Formats: sequence, structure tokens, C-alpha cells
Amino acid sequence: MPEAAWLADDHRAFGQTVRKFLERDYEPHRARWTRERRVPHAFWEQAGALGILGASTPVEYGGSGLSRTFDLVTYLEQGRIGDTGWGIGVHNIVQHYLAAFATDGQKRAWLPRLASGGWVGAIAMTEPGAGSDLQSIRTTAIADGNEYVLNGQKTFISNAANADFLIVVAKTDPEAGARGISLIALETAGAEGFQRGRALDKLGMDRQDTMELFFQDLRIPRANLIGETEGRGFYQLMGQLPWERLVIGVCALAASRCALEITLDYVKNRRAFGQRLMDYQNTRFKLAEAKSESEIFSAFIDRLVEELEAGTLTPERAAMAKWWGSEMQGRIVDNCLQLHGGYGYMNEYRIAELYRDARVQRIYGGTNEIMRELIARSLDRT
Ligand SMILES: Cc1cc2nc3c(=O)[nH]c(=O)nc-3n(C[C@H](O)[C@H](O)[C@H](O)COP(=O)(O)OP(=O)(O)OC[C@H]3O[C@@H](n4cnc5c(N)ncnc54)[C@H](O)[C@@H]3O)c2cc1C
Repeated sequence: MPEAAWLADDHRAFGQTVRKFLERDYEPHRARWTRERRVPHAFWEQAGALGILGASTPVEYGGSGLSRTFDLVTYLEQGRIGDTGWGIGVHNIVQHYLAAFATDGQKRAWLPRLASGGWVGAIAMTEPGAGSDLQSIRTTAIADGNEYVLNGQKTFISNAANADFLIVVAKTDPEAGARGISLIALETAGAEGFQRGRALDKLGMDRQDTMELFFQDLRIPRANLIGETEGRGFYQLMGQLPWERLVIGVCALAASRCALEITLDYVKNRRAFGQRLMDYQNTRFKLAEAKSESEIFSAFIDRLVEELEAGTLTPERAAMAKWWGSEMQGRIVDNCLQLHGGYGYMNEYRIAELYRDARVQRIYGGTNEIMRELIARSLDRT
């Protein structure tokens, strides 16, 4: 598979560090962490010590000050081993929100701990009654003196069990619709009125600690409002979502490549009716399609990365990467599983995990229906 066009020597060196780290400190524990449904906090600290967590966090706030393309390198390496359990994508997004919108004091207080892995970050938007329609969230943060009083419930929150630091999307003015939404930071240690729910029993992403969260009369200093102005939360979310959607596209690409590699290895070794599975035209055509689709998509991702670096990445183009990439991933892992026959259905085969993990890519980060709606709206504007 050709390398991404935007990879430079520094990216390759960083990628080697990530690769070695995952091979040495992740892979051997994979089965246990799958059973425990979580990647332990200590692993995050190791990643932080290697500079992996804070790659794109500014130097003055404890990071390495590199471009976000270094975070993409980490996701490509993670995808190379077919992993979705380690929630580094969400953790990085939390740092990006702070870097973009927090005050200098907030950045100094929070970013170094996130970059070092001392803290794990999560972002809590979705509620039982509001997912796609984020404006209708019911969690409130009502000002009372120097504090906010937080009440509400969130669900499907990635990194929830490990999270030391949460960005909570809440209404500081429940009457003001989208203009009443703010982002509030919550340090979870010892927070009275904060409760984690059960670990959610999911179709895939077995090692990901996804949970419900509850807030009851939880008092948070008003200084934890991200940025200095209330009611900017919806705008702040919209500003960062294109990145999140590009990341989902990059992860779709990496997972598709991983599925193809695993399957090539399988079909070259498995025999039926006296010949290798690889020798059947159906196998060859399915894999040729997978290879073509992923390479074509890779060229689109390269282009979006250029746009990201130039500051011109639009929400609709990021939406294209999210929906098309995740649909492609679904097709490729499905075809690859089929080529494994019954073994593909066995969880001990990695293709089964890739298949289960792929499904959510069409749902989270904004569903693929919402992505098409965003693209269609941009067509209506022109
Ligand atoms: C494993 C996992 C991890 C997640 N991690 C996080 C996290 O860390 N933080 C967080 O805040 N959230 C997280 N989510 C939540 C995720 O972002 C939401 O599930 C997603 O946005 C969809 O919301 P919903 O589930 O409420 O579905 P709904 O919004 O109820 O949608 C149901 C269906 O209706 C369709 N639909 C809705 N509105 C429209 C429309 N206008 N036009 C056409 N069709 C529409 C949708 O496309 C979908 O098919 C996670 C979810 C999962 C499964």
C-alpha cells in the first residue's frame, strides 16, 4: 500500500515509536483487556511518557507542539493492528478543544495533565433523548454564585471509566436553544454528585470503556466554563467536528487496509478443492476491489489532510470522508470476513473483531444520514 502523501521523515520516526509501543505494550495484553472491557489507566501514562498523547498539544502546555498530522499517524498505527479499544482519538479531541477555546489559565491547568497521560479525557455530548439532535439536550449547568450546578445524564461516552477530565455539553440557558449551550470542564476525582453507570454491553469495540454518566446537583466552579463566554458551546462543537470526521475517515482507511492484509494472508494459505483460495477468481476480484477502493479513498484523505493543514477543510468535505470511508470499511470487512468462511465468524479471528468494530463507524461522530444532510445543505447554498 503506498504511503500517505503527507508523511515526512519526522512522521515516519514518530510512527515507528508508536508501532513499537503498541507491539510491546498493547498487543500482549489485548485478550485480557478485552475481557476487562477497558484499557488500563497505566497504559495511558506510558503513552504519555513517550509523547504520543500530547503530540499536537502546544509545547507551552506540556505537549510536543507538532501538527495534528502526527495524531493521524497514531491512528494509522492503531488501525494497523486492528484496534479500536484505546480511545486516544477522543482523548486528543479533548485537548484540541482546550487548545482552541480555553483560556490561558485553563490550558495551563489542564493540558499538561492530559498530554502526560496523568489524566484521561472524554467528551460527553450524547444523552438518552438527544444524539443527532444535539440542540435538544436536557443536561443543565445553572449558575449559582461562583459555581454551576450540573444536572442531567449522558450516554455512550467513550473513555468514561478512565476519564479524569470530562468536557460536558450542557445548557447554561435552557430557554436559548443552541445559543444556550456551553462546554463545561469537570475534574471527576472526588466530584460529589457525579456517578458512572454500567459499562455498556456493545456489539464491538470490546476494550473501549463506554458508559453512561450521571450528574446530580454537581457543583463546578464557574471558572470551568471553557472559554470566557457562555452560550458558545454549539459553535465550539461545530468548529471541531470536521476534524473528528476526518479522523473517522482515516480510521476507516486503516481498518480496511488491516482487513485486506489479514485476508490476503489467509487466502494464500487456505486451500479448497486442491487450490489456494487466492487462486479463485471471486477471491481475486473481491480483493482487487478492496485494494482499489482503499487506494482511491486514501488519495481523497491525502487531499483533506492538505486542506486541514492549510486551514481550508470544510464541514461538508470532512462529512464526505466520514460517510464514504465508513461505508467502504463496512463493505471491505464484510467481503474479507466472507473469504474466511466459518473461521471469519469466530471471535478468535481478528477479522471477526474488525467486522464488529466497523459497524459503529457509520453511527458515531454524527450518523451517516446526518453527514449526507450536511453535504446536501452545502449543495443548496451554492
Ligand atoms: C460506541 C459508541 C461510542 C460513542 N462515543 C461517544 C462519545 O464519546 N461522546 C458522545 O457524546 N457520544 C458518543 N456516542 C454517541 C453517538 O455520537 C450517537 O449515538 C450518534 O450521534 C447518534 O445519536 P443517537 O444514537 O441518539 O441516534 P438518533 O439521533 O436517535 O438517530 C437514530 C436514527 O435516526 C436518524 N436520524 C436522526 N436525525 C435525522 C435527520 N435529521 N435526518 C435523517 N435521519 C436522521 C439517524 O441517522 C439514525 O439512523 C457514541 C456512540 C457509540 C455507539
